[in-house]
Amino acid sequence: MKDNLPFLQVSPLCELCSGAEESCRHLFFECDWSRNLLGLAANWIGVEAVHFKFQNWLRWLRYGFKVKWRRQMIRAVVAACVYTIWSERNRRIFRHQQLHPHQAFRLLQTELAVKLVNSNWAKANGPNSFLLDRIRTAI
Ligand SMILES: [Zn+2]
Repeated sequence: MKDNLPFLQVSPLCELCSGAEESCRHLFFECDWSRNLLGLAANWIGVEAVHFKFQNWLRWLRYGFKVKWRRQMIRAVVAACVYTIWSERNRRIFRHQQLHPHQAFRLLQTELAVKLVNSNWAKANGPNSFLLDRIRTAI
């Protein structure tokens, strides 16, 4: 994160929005670009978008879902979002290219759907097909 590199002569601003200094908290939980992506992902899997504050995310991931398969699913989607946000940041720094959150979400959605539908998780949770049906729509 740029907030740990004050000795480098680089802009301290967030690569995604330029609206705040880049920090872990800002990039993954407060940035408008990231919040847009997380909102699209939440909508896709049919969960209510939580208030986008860091502590709420932690609480939500830890206690938000009592059912194990659903909790695992949510964690997989959030992990994919974190990976996508970090990739987008690096794309802008190193390749000087950028994606709109909708474009990045579409890539995330397709890649994750293929992996999940073909996973052991899907085989073990076949009866819980509401979520799997929703995921399959992305393929
Ligand atoms: Zn930002």
